[in-house]
Order: sequence, then C-alpha cells, then structure tokens
Amino acid sequence: MSDATKILMVGARGRMGQTILRLAGANPHFEITGTVDQGDNVLDRLDYCDAIIDFSHHSISAPLAQIAAAHGKPLIIGTTGHSPEEKNDIAEAAGSTPIVLAPNFSVGVNVLFYLTRKAAEILGEEFDQEIVEMHHRLKIDAPSGTAKRLAEILVEVKGKSYDEIVFPGRSGEPGRRTRDEIAVHALRGGDVVGDHTVIFAGIGERVELSHKASSRETFANGALRAAKWSIGRAPGLFSMQDVLGLK
Ligand code: NAD
Repeated sequence: MSDATKILMVGARGRMGQTILRLAGANPHFEITGTVDQGDNVLDRLDYCDAIIDFSHHSISAPLAQIAAAHGKPLIIGTTGHSPEEKNDIAEAAGSTPIVLAPNFSVGVNVLFYLTRKAAEILGEEFDQEIVEMHHRLKIDAPSGTAKRLAEILVEVKGKSYDEIVFPGRSGEPGRRTRDEIAVHALRGGDVVGDHTVIFAGIGERVELSHKASSRETFANGALRAAKWSIGRAPGLFSMQDVLGLK
C-alpha cells in the first residue's frame, strides 16, 4: 500500500487548485484521491483522503470544517476573506479535528510575519506603520488575508483593538494621521501573484519589510507541507507558523 498522503482538493478548478493538483501529481509523496469544485458534493469524495485542502470561497470553509470535524479529517484552509463569524465556526470545528488556517502558506511570508513582530517591538510607537499589498486583477477580496494578518500582528504589539486603528486606505480629508492608526492599501492589476510591504516610518529614517511572490507554487508547496504535518495531530486550530516551527 502507498504511504503517500491522500488529498481531497476543494476549489480544484481554480488557480491554486490547479497548481496543487499539478505539484501533487508530480510528487510521489502525495496522491489526489478526490477533487471538488462548484456543484460537487464533498461527502461523495471524502472516503479515501487523509486530509482536505481548501482554496475556494470563504463561504465554504466553515461548512467544510464541520464536515471535516464530523469525519475526523484534517483540514488545510488557504481560502481568505472569512467573516469573524466564519472564523469562529472554523475555530469551533477545530475542537474535533486539526485545522491549519493560514492566509499565506509561503515560507517567506511567514518569516515576514516573524520579522514584522520583531521590528514593531524594537522600533516602538515613534514609527508610523502602514501596509501596502498588490495582487492580480482577478482577486475578489481586499485587503488580502496576508495584509490583514500583518495588521493583526502590529495591533497585537500595540495592545490595541483591530477595529479601532486599522482601516483601508485614505481618501477625502482624513486629517493628520494619529499615532496608532494603520492604513492598509490594496493595489490590483495584471498578474501579480502577491506583494506585501510593511512600512515603519520614523523621523529621519524609514524601514520597509517586503515580500514578493512570483509563483503560486510557493503557496501550493506550503499547503501540501501543512497537509502532511496535520496527519496524526491532536485536534486544534493551527497556523503556518506552527507547521514551520516558528512559534
Ligand atoms: P480562483 O477563483 O482561481 O479559484 C477558486 C475556485 O473555487 C474556483 O474554481 C471556484 O469555482 C471554486 N469554488 C467557488 N465556490 C465554491 C464552492 N462553493 N464549492 C467548491 N468550489 C468552489 O481563486 P484562487 O486564486 O485559486 O484563490 C482561492 C482562494 O485562496 C482565495 O480566497 C485566495 O485569496 C486564496 N489564496 C490563499 C493563498 C494562501 O497562501 N493562503 C494563496 C493564494 C490564494
């Protein structure tokens, strides 16, 4: 019997789904045992998989998490754009099965998360913080899940509440920036896979931490790595930082 990790791919016809199918197909450590896209029933294809990978639409992730929990299947969620209620439902399902929820599966971006926290801690409140992200013209949510996670990290270091100080872009006459506010600017165009920059602007100097993804393969490889990592784990809600041992 093959010891390859058996994957059920949800969102299989999409850009990420197709990339994962191609990479897993060329890797003897993985086997795709089922594919699901709009109009398909996950339950029809669940039986033979060791783990489910979801890169589809945010409205699907919470119901999918409930199905994964009911059948004891680990779930890897790459989909972004979840509402707070959807995130709560996913966290509840993680009480019964391991779920890895990551707005970005690239190793580089997870190092960016780590460095952003360190820079915020060291530079402190004298440095104004802003985030800029750019993605391809077909992306449907904004700002990106990765940009939101970067903002969350900055908010955690400040000890403030996200909704109080983080907002999208600026227009009109917003007045002088306040010390703690963090604007997240979302650019869209062409085929950009995913760029993120965190800016720390002080008096007389500026630090910029940037990551640029040039291929979806980095996310696909990370999601496959997370799937392998999740098998045999106790239930819980995990991040890519857990998978990479960066916590
Ligand atoms: P896409 O639009 O190319 O693909 C999404 C696929 O999901 C489509 O084939 C669509 O038909 C399918 N889908 C939609 N609703 C569905 C449903 N109800 N049931 C089953 N399938 C359904 O998008 P994409 O570029 O592949 O991105 C997918 C998601 O992954 C987005 O939320 C995106 O932001 C996110 N993403 C995350 C990462 C990461 O590293 N976490 C990286 C890239 C993209």
